[in-house]
Amino acid sequence: MTRRGSSCSDGIPWRAGIQKMDYIVEVRIECPYCGETFPSTLDTSQGSGRTIEDCAVCCRPIAIDYECEPGEVFSVQSSRA
Ligand SMILES: [Zn+2]
Repeated sequence: MTRRGSSCSDGIPWRAGIQKMDYIVEVRIECPYCGETFPSTLDTSQGSGRTIEDCAVCCRPIAIDYECEPGEVFSVQSSRA
């Protein structure tokens, strides 16, 4: 998990900025079509859910089901959308 340093304090409300960053978690998605894995990010602020994302390699749509709490992802499952 990456946290923002204190370098972005000019003009941006730091509290909102840090909260937003903390909810964006980097995960690795395995493509159900081509089998490649690629890094992606999930917005965990709304809790567990499902999102659709195109594969970074073959560009086909992947349904991503994820379980999380705000700031932490427990599991990610990819399937053909
Ligand atoms: Zn793919």
